[in-house]
Amino acid sequence: MRSNKWRDTKPELRLRSALHRQGLRYRVSARPVPTLRRTADVLFTKDKVAVFVDGCYWHGCPSHGSMPSSNRDFWVAKIEGNKRRDAETDRLLVEQGWFVVRVWEHTPIEDAVVLVRLGLEESRSHRSPRAIRGAVR
Ligand SMILES: [Zn+2]
Repeated sequence: MRSNKWRDTKPELRLRSALHRQGLRYRVSARPVPTLRRTADVLFTKDKVAVFVDGCYWHGCPSHGSMPSSNRDFWVAKIEGNKRRDAETDRLLVEQGWFVVRVWEHTPIEDAVVLVRLGLEESRSHRSPRAIRGAVR
């Protein structure tokens, strides 16, 4: 089977090394808000930007989130639950003054970097915190 480019390595590792090459420094797999049990993949603590790389399957990507045919109801409920939790995470973090950047594992790395930079820029120019979602491709 021919491998897709975006499957070659773990998506969050690819994003981390791309950000690192750009001279950005960050924390990895940490909670933006210590009392909130949500872990971001990449965290810019000073700028209050939390980055999540969502797996296409588990987070219900519209392009790749196809459901298995057996136990379908179970998986639909499970993935819908994950999506609700993601939306809640975004809301809670934004309420706490964080920018949330969410990209899919299939998001081209250069697009993901642009979105992270956008979050950092907005934060540094004191814009209102918000969740920034990667474009669906
Ligand atoms: Zn996808």
